[in-house]
Amino acid sequence: MKNFKDDFDFFKHSDNVYLDSAATSQKPHSVIEAQSDFYKIHCANIHRGLHTLSNKATQMYEDARTLCAEFINAESSRNIVFTKGVTEGINLLAHSLSGYETVIISSLEHHSNIVPWQLLSKNIKVIDVDKQLNINYDSYEKLLIENPNSLVSITHISNVFGNENNVKKLTSLAHKYGCLVHIDGAQAGAHIKIDVQELDVDFYTLSAHKIYAPTGVGLLYGKFELLEQMRPYQGGGAMIKDVSFKASTYLDPPLKFEAGTQNISGVIGWAEAIRYLNSLDFGEVIEHEEKIYSYSLESLKKLDDIVVYTDAKNLKSALSFNINNLHHEDIGTLLDKQGVSVRTGHHCALPAMKMLGLDGTIRVSFGIYNDEEDISRFIRALKKSIDILRRHK
Ligand code: PMP
Repeated sequence: MKNFKDDFDFFKHSDNVYLDSAATSQKPHSVIEAQSDFYKIHCANIHRGLHTLSNKATQMYEDARTLCAEFINAESSRNIVFTKGVTEGINLLAHSLSGYETVIISSLEHHSNIVPWQLLSKNIKVIDVDKQLNINYDSYEKLLIENPNSLVSITHISNVFGNENNVKKLTSLAHKYGCLVHIDGAQAGAHIKIDVQELDVDFYTLSAHKIYAPTGVGLLYGKFELLEQMRPYQGGGAMIKDVSFKASTYLDPPLKFEAGTQNISGVIGWAEAIRYLNSLDFGEVIEHEEKIYSYSLESLKKLDDIVVYTDAKNLKSALSFNINNLHHEDIGTLLDKQGVSVRTGHHCALPAMKMLGLDGTIRVSFGIYNDEEDISRFIRALKKSIDILRRHK
């Protein structure tokens, strides 16, 4: 079995047990090199000058778009709008897609799939979840019947509990009632194979930094005829056909949505991350992550006074728990002192926390570089933290 840690510079400098990949992943050496090479060797702006350097940078940027399209099996690179990440992708959609005043979301959404809709005064309808925190399909269909022709916007995988939603089922039901579907893929991109055509989603958003790529880059996938109908999100250079003081006309998608100088080095770094993932056997990656996930869950369940919030079968990549009568932040602090990085708090999902009567959880989340040794060290550190806190109660 390959030791994935060897590919990531971070682990050459640190023996930290990094269990916070849902917040952001570590980056492979090749990604860091590609980004730095852009500045060292190829630095120029794109879609502008006619000089050789600018043409080369444009070529690298557009090649990255093609790789991103292939990564999610989009129809073509024309369907890929580069953004800063999922947050910007959803804000773009909220701003630019007209005719959809009602947005149907689930109870487990990240703030970035709630607040942008509120800022534009959309009418938000919330689907109930069942005891395992999976979508309740009766509640979903009822909302679709009551609100036909609205927009459904749901996370692919919960960033708090790890439940993977059945996107194909969500999409086909939504289309039956004339609704469009956007899926927030922030937590999915690194952990499952995404095929937007197979899922038949209308829009899909990704954040590159959670998929072993730099921060400040992401994408919005859209069916081309929908992107064509949408108005630009921001105005400025690089998105226009013609400008006069009376009116301006715009380029076709995706450039219509990419005003101003883009995060060129970030996009080039992302392409390298995709090349890195393409060089691996993805089946092996998925199997490895499943093993780490179930080993963690089983080890946690053996602890006294542990509370895990779901026993669902469709869990991936992130896992939330608490220890009865101990505060999540105290546990997180003591784990950190022992070199284990986990996330504590509300995970930008306050409505989900409120629904469960919690003010926070301890979340562990995984990347390809985590191994059984990491999980054993985490469990030992957790037991020690619990002992210390119990002794001082
Ligand atoms: N949605 C989900 C499910 C997330 O986990 C996150 C990041 N934690 C986001 C959206 C926002 O992503 P970003 O901060 O990269 O825009």
